[in-house]
Amino acid sequence: MAKSKKGAVELIALKCTECNRRNYTTKKNRRNMQGKLELMKYCKFDRKHTLHKETKVK
Ligand SMILES: [Zn+2]
Repeated sequence: MAKSKKGAVELIALKCTECNRRNYTTKKNRRNMQGKLELMKYCKFDRKHTLHKETKVK
């Protein structure tokens, strides 16, 4: 049985910087990713690619 390693992988949401909606959720491995995640993602509300920044889920 596989033991889950707690704490290494974190669930995060990606928030659009233009309309502030949370369009995506993803997982981040804290061991190999430092700092805030920033990605160009398509926002269906703005109907274009916008910068999405990491934010906490909940
Ligand atoms: Zn947006």
